[in-house]
Amino acid sequence: MIDLHSHSTFSDGSESPERVVELAAAAGCSAVALTDHDGTDGIARAAARATELGVDLVAGCEVSCSATGTMHVLCYFVGDGESPLQEELTRLRDDRATRNLEMARRLGELGLPVTLDDVTAEAGGIGIGRPHFAAVLVRNGAATSVQDAFDRYLAKGAPGYVPKTRVEAAAILDLATRSGGVAVLAHPLSLGLAPHELGVELQHLADLGLTGMECYYGRYDPSTRAELVSLADGLGLVATGGSDFHGTYKPDLSMGTGTGDLDVPDRVLAELESRRP
Ligand code: AMP
Ligand code: ZN
Ligand code: FE
Ligand code: FE
Repeated sequence: MIDLHSHSTFSDGSESPERVVELAAAAGCSAVALTDHDGTDGIARAAARATELGVDLVAGCEVSCSATGTMHVLCYFVGDGESPLQEELTRLRDDRATRNLEMARRLGELGLPVTLDDVTAEAGGIGIGRPHFAAVLVRNGAATSVQDAFDRYLAKGAPGYVPKTRVEAAAILDLATRSGGVAVLAHPLSLGLAPHELGVELQHLADLGLTGMECYYGRYDPSTRAELVSLADGLGLVATGGSDFHGTYKPDLSMGTGTGDLDVPDRVLAELESRRP
């Protein structure tokens, strides 16, 4: 079993990179990818722990793309040295800081009990995003749960929402390839497309250099996973998978097993590796 999608305190996960790797090993994973949003700063710590535990650590990150629905791309085999992808990730993190300031200002204007200092402390100073705003709103009594905080204040269209810089899909696929990595479409159903449209969009993305898509996803049921695998096979895409573990921010998702029955085959990693540029 492997897990190619996880988040740590370096973005909006609640657990340290070391702990993410420990949980993967405990779940029986032979390999784990840390895929924090917009950065790879947690990789070195995850890799050190993975070596101690005899687990393979895949360097990854997750980037939000501009699309009608929600399009997230996972990049794998991302080096931490200078590369076109790392340059883009730096820009995304800088823009996120500006966005966080604006979200704090808007929520303050709404009279809500949340400051950028609270949110920064909640996030441990790095990788700050909406889930951290949500956690503070819950703690300070302005929402009953993280989901309630999103629904009322933080979701797209809600009064505290500020859009974040997104990258064109074609650009991220090109950056990943030019940086020696491969790109995989995360949780493909979040594109919000009907089955036929999804096939057309995936063909387009495959033509632009997409390597795989996440068919074995923590929250998809077995028949959905099987349908996505056959779609991927038909397009020559590697059928990948992972839990999208975020610790307490998404308490229904566990490392390795997702909602309980996830079991991504080991061979998926070898297939991805064989597609490295
Ligand atoms: P950000 O990168 O700051 O925009 O935050 C994205 C995170 O917020 C992801 O982990 C999402 O799962 C979570 N998120 C986005 N929209 C919603 C929503 N409507 N309800 C709950 N969580 C959401
Ligand atoms: Zn996340
Ligand atoms: Fe995602
Ligand atoms: Fe994710």
